[in-house]
This record gives sequence, structure tokens and C-alpha cells, in this order.
Amino acid sequence: MPIYEFECGKCNHRFETLVLSSGDTPSACPECKSKKIGKLISAGSFRPNGIPTGSGGFDAPACAQKGCPSAGSGG
Ligand SMILES: [Zn+2]
Repeated sequence: MPIYEFECGKCNHRFETLVLSSGDTPSACPECKSKKIGKLISAGSFRPNGIPTGSGGFDAPACAQKGCPSAGSGG
């Protein structure tokens, strides 16, 4: 999926956008509406969204999906 990352040169706001064609690039920063934005060179891979990468270091949202008896504390 052709998702490119851009960074604003004014407020340093980073945002990702889906670029289907070469002329579909954003022309202004969505935060401060500045036109001083630049495309960042990605590492060639995008981050998985909500996919646990095996035995990592962060807490997997296992109890958030199921009814965990110990997690539900005054929800
Ligand atoms: Zn900006």
C-alpha cells in the first residue's frame, strides 16, 4: 500500500497519507496548513496496526478483547 510519510517544516507534525498517484500528494500540513512539508523516506515497511509481534515487550491487548476477570475493574 503506497503510504508515504510527510513532515511539516513549520510545526514538525508528521502525518501519513495514502498516495495512489504521483499527483495525489498533500500540499499543506493538516495541522497548521503550512505548505512547507517534505516527504520522508520510509524504511520500506510500515508498522502493523494492532498486530502483536510474538513475545514482544509491550502488553498485548488480550484482556481488552475478552472478558478478563482481573482486568475489568470498574469499567
Ligand atoms: Zn504543520
